[in-house]
Amino acid sequence: MKLDAYEGKTGAGLTGIFYTAFVAFESAVKGVMFDCRMCGQCILRYTGFACPMRCPKQLRNGPCGGTHSGGRCEVYPEMECAWYRIYRRSKLFHMDRKLEALQPAIDWRLRGTASWINHFTGADKHIKPMEPADPRPRSSKKR
Ligand code: SF4
Repeated sequence: MKLDAYEGKTGAGLTGIFYTAFVAFESAVKGVMFDCRMCGQCILRYTGFACPMRCPKQLRNGPCGGTHSGGRCEVYPEMECAWYRIYRRSKLFHMDRKLEALQPAIDWRLRGTASWINHFTGADKHIKPMEPADPRPRSSKKR
């Protein structure tokens, strides 16, 4: 896909003052609230409203396996493992089932763009997560 066409679709090609101001606004609000890193493809609704991009390895499908006891990060032991936090918060908000969704690889072309605009324009649709399968047996499903 040609980058020009891609940018036109995402809104990343918008360089006007409105878009720049919107990116700054989103960055400021989500920076304070979620320590957002502006990946452009927000999955907070799947992660208990804790940002997975805080992980030094930027893993979007669970922890690396190196988490220290007490939920400390193996790269920066002074910080809490991003996925430990995601799990805690998902449990707190009864969103833990959402963690079973398989998140596709991140599209770095969207980095630094406004995820809210990407969401509403559908620019991030190609990275749609795979929802977990319905756990109910087939016979109990309503038709
Ligand atoms: S998932 Fe991406 S857009 Fe959402 S808070 Fe984290 S860095 Fe920001």
